[in-house]
Amino acid sequence: MRLSRYFLPVLKENPSEAQIVSHRLMLRAGMIRQQAAGIYSWLPLGYRVLRRLEQIVHEEQQRAGHIPLLMPTLQSADLWKESGRYDAYGPEMLRIRDRHDRDMLYGPTNEEMITDIFRSHVGSYKDLPLTLYHIQWKFRDEVRPRFGVMRGREFLMKDGYNFDLTKEDALHAYNRHLVSYLRTYERMGLQAIPMRADSGPIGGDDTHEFLVLADTGESEVFYDSRVTDIRLGARDIDYDDKDQCRGVMEEFTALYARTDETHDAGLFEQIPEDRRRVARGIEVGQIFYFGTKYSEPMGALVATPDGERVPVHMGSHGIGVSRLVGALIEANHDDKGIIWPEGVTPFHAGIVNLKQGDADADAACEGLYAALRARGLDPLYDDREERAGAKFATMDLIGLPWRITVGPRGLKAGVVELTSRRTGESEELAPELAVARIAEIYAGL
Ligand code: ATP
Ligand code: MG
Repeated sequence: MRLSRYFLPVLKENPSEAQIVSHRLMLRAGMIRQQAAGIYSWLPLGYRVLRRLEQIVHEEQQRAGHIPLLMPTLQSADLWKESGRYDAYGPEMLRIRDRHDRDMLYGPTNEEMITDIFRSHVGSYKDLPLTLYHIQWKFRDEVRPRFGVMRGREFLMKDGYNFDLTKEDALHAYNRHLVSYLRTYERMGLQAIPMRADSGPIGGDDTHEFLVLADTGESEVFYDSRVTDIRLGARDIDYDDKDQCRGVMEEFTALYARTDETHDAGLFEQIPEDRRRVARGIEVGQIFYFGTKYSEPMGALVATPDGERVPVHMGSHGIGVSRLVGALIEANHDDKGIIWPEGVTPFHAGIVNLKQGDADADAACEGLYAALRARGLDPLYDDREERAGAKFATMDLIGLPWRITVGPRGLKAGVVELTSRRTGESEELAPELAVARIAEIYAGL
């Protein structure tokens, strides 16, 4: 993309309505625009990041054997009356009446709808296990929408639902989700810690929330500092292997890590004092096992091998895709702007032409632009007639992890400058080497 032809409405001033850094930087970098309280347009740069996160979520879900589908945002109230949640859900549910006076709602979640799909099409243990998921907009009429996309009213969520014959199988699905979520967050360059949580209106016995540590997080968290050393890394996971998934889940959850909802001061005190941490965290996902809570009232039954018909065991699992954009910025920024991890960056590298209009500089930039694209990468080329300082400030603000700076003086010596946004370190090297270096960095992502 050439910046002169892109739509990147950056703001020079700090918007006064933004209380936290991610909200401020998303507005300043021209990523979002608020359209109503808690409702945002995703401008091109923000949309690229959102799409990238969706892509990672899809890949990791499908790696775990989960199947994508797409359910609508608007739902009929009838299903919710069957489960008993239509009245229970309260004012967070946006209720709508259509022209025929039918009660509708903008879905805050999809347990009822997926249970309806399941009961209409699946009737035998032979079709199990099954996990279906989608990435779709949700609406929750939050009392206090705030912090930009972190607590919106309309927000994008990946929600997945597992269907299993037995509780044991459903717990495998739970563990599989836990492991695949950890892999998902790690690929985004984030560390999210699974913490035992309260189940809230979804209901159920087992539930873990995934929290990213950040001072601006809304939840108070208590943990053993050792949980932050655990990484899935390049470990080979066989998602069908029950023992392996349980093993990984136990290894992660053996150490104390809880939100204030489930915090147990007595247990916490048993951790050696120098490892006890009290901090704040952002919830970026949650998994639940809730057994037959929906399948029983809604009659989602399956035949067992003995021919008996029993309610299917279920769980639901959510990732806050749009909230993650904010959480990523909370975890990756400095006073100049955003610092995208390579896994989620909207463009792989920026090209800054220090002297637009200079024949050599223009030709070198065009060459770099073409060479990066030929390697399957997406560069953002700042080809505007602007001062170098303004170009650097924009690149720093929007946070691309790598910048290639091209100027007539360097070109005379056959070099361009490659700069890391995170460390600020620069290196002079031949243009082909800069391209090769960047291609290598992204090769495994
Ligand atoms: P919270 O406690 O933050 O209100 P929740 O526990 O009600 O969230 P879940 O039902 O667990 O939310 O939804 C799954 C994920 O969707 C959450 O982990 C969070 O990342 C995201 N999410 C929930 N509510 C919002 C919101 N209002 N804005 C943005 N993302 C949200
Ligand atoms: Mg939750």
